[in-house]
Amino acid sequence: MLDIKHTICPSCSVGCGLNIVSKDGAVVGTYPYKRHPINEGKNCLNGRNSILQFDNQIENPSIVKNGELEESDYETVFKLIKDQLASIDASELAIICSGNSTNEELDRIKEFADGFGCEKIGFYGYNFPNFAVDVASYDDIAGAKTILAIGDIYRENPLLARRIVLSKENGACLINLDDVEKSITSLNADEFIQFDGHLGDKIDAVKGKLDENSIIIANKVCCKDDFALLESLAGENGAKLLPVFNAPNMKGAMNKLDSWDVEEVKNIIGDSKVLIVVKDNPFEYLSKDDIKGKAFIVNISNEDNAFAKISDVILPGKSWGEKAGTFTNCEGLEQSFDISAEIENDNLGEVEILDELA
Ligand code: SF4
Repeated sequence: MLDIKHTICPSCSVGCGLNIVSKDGAVVGTYPYKRHPINEGKNCLNGRNSILQFDNQIENPSIVKNGELEESDYETVFKLIKDQLASIDASELAIICSGNSTNEELDRIKEFADGFGCEKIGFYGYNFPNFAVDVASYDDIAGAKTILAIGDIYRENPLLARRIVLSKENGACLINLDDVEKSITSLNADEFIQFDGHLGDKIDAVKGKLDENSIIIANKVCCKDDFALLESLAGENGAKLLPVFNAPNMKGAMNKLDSWDVEEVKNIIGDSKVLIVVKDNPFEYLSKDDIKGKAFIVNISNEDNAFAKISDVILPGKSWGEKAGTFTNCEGLEQSFDISAEIENDNLGEVEILDELA
């Protein structure tokens, strides 16, 4: 008997609806969410492959010894963490979150940090800083005359790219700025401008081409200064700006927590004795030397990856399909979802874990 449940795609911040298909209690596939207003019955390959996140998971609280995970139990792991927390003061704790947690989980993590007096709580924002500017909506793409795309939107965010395609059919001009040549977006653009490392002087090349009928869509910036350049570019020309992120709730995280760049994350880790990492894989932006041996690492994630092997203790938490809550997509729309995958395990969710640690 097939069971189909609606959820929100966890593979980027566009916020498409996705159906999870289960059979006899096991997840067997995905199916596009036909009536969802964002993706209108389509999901990209990244979205359809989201169920791979259910494979290869850590299923039990674990202690890591010499790079090997040893299955343990909640009582033992909680005691180890509490002993570590009791031995430090608030300034020696850092908490790295991510846009993979729901808004409700982020609120609970923040509450936990506040209760401990910990001020070093934030997430790696892939060079996007916290920003105050109002973001463009997806409907703005349909009405745009010029679209400046930074990064490979067609490849990374196909259901947003679909709106660009429709806008181009209505006569819009697509300019792509990227450091990668021959990306899918560049091959479909009317004009491609390559930059090397930073946007810098390439901004001048597009200045005269934007006006109040333009939209800048960026899924990649090289540093926080580059984002400031885009903000100025939009402000000076009356164009709208739409930053797009790789995690489903990074906009929600932006609204609540500090967005750090790599240097900030490194400094924060260097100043800490206990590091709690919630649903993040720091190896996507740090090297092993940046993090290994610097602090006692509490890894709240069920991803069985290289970062798990250098953690000290692991609490799996719940995978995305086992959660209910809300994600805020990149246009600022908060969407709620229920549990979509009935996976049999006794794992505590992130909120329950933090309740216990608090
Ligand atoms: S565009 Fe993003 S949110 Fe939509 S299906 Fe693809 S990965 Fe998922």
